[in-house]
Amino acid sequence: MDKGMMLDRGTTMDRGAMHRAPKRMPSLYIHVPFCVKKCDYCAFYSLPLINSHQDPMVGYFKGLELEMVKRQKDAPEGVSSLFIGGGTPTALRDSDLECLLEMIQRYFRLNPGAENTVEGNPGTLTASKLDSLRRYGINRFSLGVQTFDDRLLRAVGRMHTASQAREAIGRLRTAGFNNINLDLMFGLPAQDMRAWQASLEEALSYSPEHLSLYGLMLEDGTPLYARYRGKAKDRTQVDLLPDDDLQAEMHDWAVERLKQAGYRHYETSNFARPGFECRHNLGYWRGEDYLGLGPGGVSCLNRVRWKNFEDVRVYQNRLQNLQDPFEEEGLEVLSLQECMAERMILGLRLEEGVNLTSFRNDFGRDLRDIYRDVLERYNHRDVFVIQGEYLRLNPTYSFIANSILQEFV
Ligand code: SF4
Repeated sequence: MDKGMMLDRGTTMDRGAMHRAPKRMPSLYIHVPFCVKKCDYCAFYSLPLINSHQDPMVGYFKGLELEMVKRQKDAPEGVSSLFIGGGTPTALRDSDLECLLEMIQRYFRLNPGAENTVEGNPGTLTASKLDSLRRYGINRFSLGVQTFDDRLLRAVGRMHTASQAREAIGRLRTAGFNNINLDLMFGLPAQDMRAWQASLEEALSYSPEHLSLYGLMLEDGTPLYARYRGKAKDRTQVDLLPDDDLQAEMHDWAVERLKQAGYRHYETSNFARPGFECRHNLGYWRGEDYLGLGPGGVSCLNRVRWKNFEDVRVYQNRLQNLQDPFEEEGLEVLSLQECMAERMILGLRLEEGVNLTSFRNDFGRDLRDIYRDVLERYNHRDVFVIQGEYLRLNPTYSFIANSILQEFV
């Protein structure tokens, strides 16, 4: 069905909207789909550079530059924040990383004071890469540590060691990064509570400004899924996976420990020292516009969303043939109802909740009128709390948040 035909559900949006500059400055995400090697649990689009016979980098850069040329008009006043993610952006060669940073600066204005983040993994941070990042205005670094336990790193096929993670944190501080995020994972095979506590305590000893904690997910099609859930799964291995109760205990312990240590649990999986909340990701959760360039990049402007092909060659060929790097049928024109539901679902993941005034300004109605039924259904249990300008979820119910949030769909 033509998505344009779905607009009779209350929106005046049309496909042409994606060709108009957004009303607000969008954020910019650049996807770098390369890693040194694939981790055993990873279902993201990324190509391992180990044993790669061709150099997919040339096609990537050609395509990316063409996409930048095409999309720079969407950010006439610059971008509100930059996030270079992946993949592993720091797996690029020194000269390629410098070329990427230079290209971004050529086509997009990075506003003074904006948050500019790069993701990377231990074992890939050279002094010269860090120097380039600083010179091009990168002021936040997100490091994929996952755990400080070598045995667990091996169990999920990470390519680095704990000592490389320690070294990387030291290098980042020496290079002048004073806004660092560390990614940690819980629920890893054979990880017990003590091992999880030891990793989190070690992470805290480096005083990171931000921490992202993720439970291990077994994604279909990954080596880890085959090992633990696939047809040929090994029963002895299955028993090594922490069960849901232990994962929940690990999560709850971490929430308490980080609160004690002065971190704000500002989003379901994210914790920050006050003032260091990730502004780029806050933009997604608050329903702001974003551009996502590179293979697999997702953009949403003026309520039109699209996702680029997750294939470097197809991505490059389409752009060289003057086509969009996404399927025309994949262009999603969001109705007003869909946008409002997303705003609620994403916003209620935040500790602050959904801003009532922004909601009214963006959608022309008070959310308390639109979602009266849902709010009243949970009224007697104080599931939703209105505080000042915000409607938020009572943290007591965060463990059933997903089922409650479905009510807004
Ligand atoms: S480093 Fe990240 S993106 Fe790359 S394979 Fe591992 S989990 Fe996936």
